[in-house]
Amino acid sequence: MKISIVIPVFNEAAGIELLIQRLAKVTAQLSSHTWEIVFVDDGSNDDTVDTITKYRHLFHGPLTIVEFSRNFGHQPALLAGLQQSSGDIIFCIDADLQDPPELFGAMLEKQAEGFDVVYAVRKTRTESWPKRWAYKLFYRLQAYLTEIPLPVDAGDFGLVTRRVAEIMIHSADKDLFLRGLRGWSGFRQTGYEYDRPARAVGQAKYSFVKLLRLALSGLFGFSSLPLKFATGIGMISVGGCMIYGIYALIEKLFLGSTPAGWTSTVLLILFLGGTQLLSIGILGEYIGRVYKQLQSRPLFVVKKTTALE
Ligand code: UDP
Ligand code: MG
Repeated sequence: MKISIVIPVFNEAAGIELLIQRLAKVTAQLSSHTWEIVFVDDGSNDDTVDTITKYRHLFHGPLTIVEFSRNFGHQPALLAGLQQSSGDIIFCIDADLQDPPELFGAMLEKQAEGFDVVYAVRKTRTESWPKRWAYKLFYRLQAYLTEIPLPVDAGDFGLVTRRVAEIMIHSADKDLFLRGLRGWSGFRQTGYEYDRPARAVGQAKYSFVKLLRLALSGLFGFSSLPLKFATGIGMISVGGCMIYGIYALIEKLFLGSTPAGWTSTVLLILFLGGTQLLSIGILGEYIGRVYKQLQSRPLFVVKKTTALE
């Protein structure tokens, strides 16, 4: 079988040599398949591309670099890699070796049992505890909210067969959340558990804002439940206000001891103001996405594609 390895890279020069070395070793051990590597350079401003060219000889097989005209983000880079790839099976991995290539063999064995998707599940992580908790919380919230089957603690790392990759490539989603599309595609899917190591070198290239954006794409792109949340909160607060209104009337008409009522006023203003702002925010998230989808700009611009000899 022909297998493609798709790797988005953004300022990863420091780790490239080790990455290609480890990929070369693993693919040599699995030599009953033919392998290709597709790097997508997501607008790096260090010498990532030159470094790939320099160590390219370590890997014996076709290797392509797709270069973006600027930084478009990890998800668009993955998509470009999928488009460029030609394998029957495609692995998506990070460049920082947090997704160990040594798992390829075991994942291929799983695939051979008849699965179209084998995604890696992070049993443990090495990030700081606030980040670990944020991940945990996000995956569970997301699984609870979405209307499609989405595994928890699984990222983009894993393999997909050609037919799943084609669905991801042709989705026309402008707000990309590829692992969501992967789950949405159906077919038989399974997880493969592993302990996620720390980065081999360098700092995370996903900033807090980028991570948050990805998380929101996952939530709002695959669920309309948040829209209903506004309705739910609205109904509860209207009910609460009616009860309180009746109490206020009784107090005024029969008990005659109307207090100054500062506390209740403040509480009501805070509660209603808060829920209104939240609801408007939720609407905004969807409207922003509808707008982006309507503009239908390409998700990335390719500056150059090189097949390295
Ligand atoms: N990456 C990218 N574009 C970006 C940010 C990250 O292509 O704007 C790549 C990065 O080079 C790496 C992968 O995406 O190969 C995952 O990034 P990182 O390790 O920073 O993410 P984390 O480990 O925090 O999920
Ligand atoms: Mg990483």
